[in-house]
Amino acid sequence: MAAAGDPGRQWPEEEEAAAVVVVGSCMTDLVSLTSRLPKTGETIHGHKFFIGFGGKGANQCVQAARLGAKTSMVCKVGKDSFGNDYIENLKQNDISTEFTYQTKDAATGAASIIVDNEVKTLFNPAPAIADLDPRFYTLSDVFCCNETEAEILTGLTVGSPADAGKAALVLVERGCQVVIITLGADGCVMLSQTQLVPKHIPTEKVKAVDTTGAGDSFVGALAFYLAYYPNLSLEEMLKRSNFIAVVSVQAAGTQSSYPYKKDLPLHLF
Ligand code: ATP
Repeated sequence: MAAAGDPGRQWPEEEEAAAVVVVGSCMTDLVSLTSRLPKTGETIHGHKFFIGFGGKGANQCVQAARLGAKTSMVCKVGKDSFGNDYIENLKQNDISTEFTYQTKDAATGAASIIVDNEVKTLFNPAPAIADLDPRFYTLSDVFCCNETEAEILTGLTVGSPADAGKAALVLVERGCQVVIITLGADGCVMLSQTQLVPKHIPTEKVKAVDTTGAGDSFVGALAFYLAYYPNLSLEEMLKRSNFIAVVSVQAAGTQSSYPYKKDLPLHLF
């Protein structure tokens, strides 16, 4: 893991390597607001349309960057206006685009892997597939998924913190060092090779406006804490990541709902 820097400082150009490197997707969201979903083949009126920046990898990278992490995005976007705009968006968020490439081929969506400079890897198996290559369980230091992904991976029903604890145990038995399962308004559950009793970390009850991208906000925040506050206990990192994701569900949109460090309480840093 990179030496923890002061996340509040201005980063000199190209002097310091990124502490949070995200390998994942950059997607352009084309969002239409309608009163209901259309039936197959039906055309209906929408009342609003907007284009936003999404993609699980980029979302996580943006959240970590907005908290002050030195970040780099490893991905490929199209050689088109959306791709150009996306690269500009990454730059606007102070994310290094040194390894953001452009191609005329179609972009590929995939699960994202967040890697820091040395040892630690945080793996987010989204979108999940039942026959995930078993090496992913053993190669990541922290394996973080949501309840649906935990169900697909384990075949168990995950509807409560107790269920999540059982699913996490299956994932630990497959070789994960640390498993975190996010549970929406119920926060998250963690389990590790060294602590085989599941720990539920609840979150604040709030009126959620839009939970889209909450999981990526959570994972991005966790990557930030792993990179910059490695001495915090995992439980404390998860409490703080919950806090940040809770902020994101109280505003509309994905990256547009992600808080900046300046808007968050000092006790998170
Ligand atoms: P998405 O796919 O929309 O990014 P996800 O399903 O991957 O989300 P969730 O488990 O729904 O992720 O949520 C991640 C975190 O966000 C939770 O652990 C919690 O901290 C916070 N969160 C999500 N929904 C709510 C909510 N309704 N109220 C409070 N916190 C929430």
